Amino acid sequence: MGEFDGLAALVTGGGSGIGLATATLLAERGARVACLDVSPPGDPFFGVKADVTDDAAVRTAVTAAAEHLGGLDILVNNAGIGAAGTVEQNPDEEWFRVLDVNVVGMARVTRAALPYLRASGHAAIVNTCSIAATAGLPNRALYSASKGAILSLTLAMATDHLADGIRVNCVTPGTADTPWVQRLLAAAPDPAAERHALEQRQPMGRLVSAEEVATAIAYLASPSASSTTGTVLAVDGGMHGLR
Ligand code: NAD
Repeated sequence: MGEFDGLAALVTGGGSGIGLATATLLAERGARVACLDVSPPGDPFFGVKADVTDDAAVRTAVTAAAEHLGGLDILVNNAGIGAAGTVEQNPDEEWFRVLDVNVVGMARVTRAALPYLRASGHAAIVNTCSIAATAGLPNRALYSASKGAILSLTLAMATDHLADGIRVNCVTPGTADTPWVQRLLAAAPDPAAERHALEQRQPMGRLVSAEEVATAIAYLASPSASSTTGTVLAVDGGMHGLR
């Protein structure tokens, strides 16, 4: 028996990295899983293709997922994009784009999923935030602002939907070894040296794995966390607490 037996989960950004690792883990533990992504995975998941900036597409995709799975008990709001730069360097269009994906996208998916989550009676939402929300990372002004908003949104949603029987929490990954980070490293003049330097900046001397973040998300989504709502679980290799 898996701890998610009988439960249905929707994971956004489920086509890669942390989202794919989370979908895989939830399925291994018994959940029926749908992945919403611009590039959704195939079997064993029910992939629904949508861009979280497109409200109509999100509504169609969430409805298709819920109908296919027979409801929704778990929503993992994980789709997100990055941005480098100080506050002087990102033009307005980039601010609107990143906030649209990372913050408004999360609100759109949640809005579409709420009727199904309310009907569950014991639902959980887990939002993928970031250490960037609270750590004052250099050269990440816009990205940090988007993740700060997700932290606040998590707390507000936890309060608003307590009476609906929906728990809402978030995880704050540190630098995680996903295709996103692998793409950034590959673009460096010396990827191996860049990776080594990045690892040396981590208190544990290594990056966090997507599976480690997925394990934390699965805990917060699970019946084991039945008294936990409005919390932030760090999966950052000690980056925040030990700096
Ligand atoms: P990733 O690029 O490997 O995966 C992100 C997925 O989101 C991709 O499948 C992509 O297609 C999807 N996606 C992007 N924009 C989308 C959109 N507009 N609509 C629908 N799907 C979209 O990245 P990852 O590292 O797994 O990141 C996942 C989440 O974790 C993000 O929210 C990111 O901010 C957060 N995070 C990552 C790290 C890290 O170091 N990798 C650290 C902290 C937080």
